Amino acid sequence: MNAPLAPPPARGCRDTPVLKERGQREVFCGLTGIIWLHRKMQDAFFLVVGSRTCAHLLQSAAGVMIFAEPRFGTAILEEKDLAGLADANDELDREVARLIARRPDIRQLFLVGSCPSEVIKLDLARAAERLSVAHAPHVRVLAYSGSGIETTFTQGEDACLAAMVPTLPATDAPGLLVVGALPDVVEDQMRALLAALGIASVATLPARRADALPAVGPQTRVLLAQPFLGDTLAALERRGAVHLPAPFPFGEEGTTRWLAAAAAAFDVPAERFAAATDAPRARARKAVAAAAAPLAGRSVFFFPDSQLEVPLARFLARECAMQPIEVGTPYLHGAILGPDLDLLPEGPALSEGQDVDRQLDRARAARPDLTVCGLGLANPLEAEGLATKWAIELVFSPVHFYEQAGDLAALFARPLRRRAALGALRGQPEAGDPA
Ligand code: SF4
Repeated sequence: MNAPLAPPPARGCRDTPVLKERGQREVFCGLTGIIWLHRKMQDAFFLVVGSRTCAHLLQSAAGVMIFAEPRFGTAILEEKDLAGLADANDELDREVARLIARRPDIRQLFLVGSCPSEVIKLDLARAAERLSVAHAPHVRVLAYSGSGIETTFTQGEDACLAAMVPTLPATDAPGLLVVGALPDVVEDQMRALLAALGIASVATLPARRADALPAVGPQTRVLLAQPFLGDTLAALERRGAVHLPAPFPFGEEGTTRWLAAAAAAFDVPAERFAAATDAPRARARKAVAAAAAPLAGRSVFFFPDSQLEVPLARFLARECAMQPIEVGTPYLHGAILGPDLDLLPEGPALSEGQDVDRQLDRARAARPDLTVCGLGLANPLEAEGLATKWAIELVFSPVHFYEQAGDLAALFARPLRRRAALGALRGQPEAGDPA
C-alpha cells in the first residue's frame, strides 16, 4: 500500500490576487498547435490560410524534411481588396479540391485562419461549410483561427477542438471523455490506467482518426488532460457534458488526484483504485526523487507561455521542493486551474497576461535559480546569467502521468546541471550549485 497523498497546504493560491497585465507579449501564435495536432490526428490535414510568414513559422518550427509529405500546408493569399474576395474564395476552393484529389487519405480538413488583413476579410467558417458540402461524405471541413492576434501558442489546439465539438455525435450513454492531444504512447498508458480502474467507456478528443470521433451528451464526464482548453470545455458543456475538476496529471500527485476524480465519478472502490495505482505511484515517486535532487530549495520564475504554468509550479513546489517566485500564465481559468491553485502553497505572485518589459524587470530583480520562458527570452536571460528552460519543450515532450513524472523533473533539472557543469569547467562553481 502506498503512502497517502500529502494533504493540501494550509493556504493555497486560489484566493491570491492576480496581477493582470495587458502589454507586449512574447509568445508563439496558435498556428504552433498544428505541429502536435497533425501528428495526433492521422487522417487530418491543416491548411493554413495565411502569409509567407505563417508558412516559414510552420516549416521551421515543425522541422519537416522537404521530401516528406506533411499533413499541413499554407495557402498563401496575396494582398487583395474587398472586391477581390470572390476570387480569393474561388482560389481557396480550387486549392482544396486539388489537395483532396491528390491526398485521398485526408478525412478531416481544417482551414486555419491567420493574421493578415486579407485573410481576416475571408469568412473561413462559411468557406468550411461550403467545402464540407462539396466534399461530403469523404471529407469534413472545419475552420478555426490560429492568428497571433487572437490566440497564443497552445490556444490553437483549443480553437481546433472547440470547432470539432458541434460536429460530434450525440449520446445518452455514460462515459468518460479525456480532452487534449497526448502523444499516442502516453494516451495508451492513460487508457491502461483507466481500464485498470474498471472504467469501461473511455473516449478521447481529439481521436486518432475521423471514424473514431467521440460521442457526447449529458452522461458524458469530461476530464481535461491539458489546462488550455477553456473554449473546448465550454462547447462540451453546451452539449450537456459535465466537467470533472481535477489537478492536471503531472507528477505522481497530479496523476493520482486526476485519476481519483475519474474514480469518484464512476464509483470505483478504494481497493480497486489502490490496486491499479500503487505500483505506478511508487515508480513515479522513485523516479521523481532520483531526478529532482538538483531542484530542491531552488527558486523558479514562470513567464506566461503554454498555460501549463500553474500545474507545473504545483508539481515543482510539492514534489520537487522548489520555490516558485512568480507564476505567469497567458490566461488563468479559475474553474480549470482551481484544484491546482488549491495545492500550490501560498507565496508566489500570480500574473495573467503579459507586459514583457515589466515582467523582465521583476525577473531580474528576483534572480531566480531557474526561469521558464519562451524561446525569444531565453537567450537574452542566459546572457544575463539566468538559467532558463524553454516552455515549448514542456509541450512537445511526453510529460503526463506516472511513467513520465521522472522525465518531467529531469527536464527542469537539466539547465541547472548544465550551468553547474559549465561553472565547474571554468573553476567557478556557483554558490549552492547542484553536485
Ligand atoms: S503571428 Fe500571424 S502572421 Fe505570424 S505566423 Fe502567426 S498567424 Fe502567421
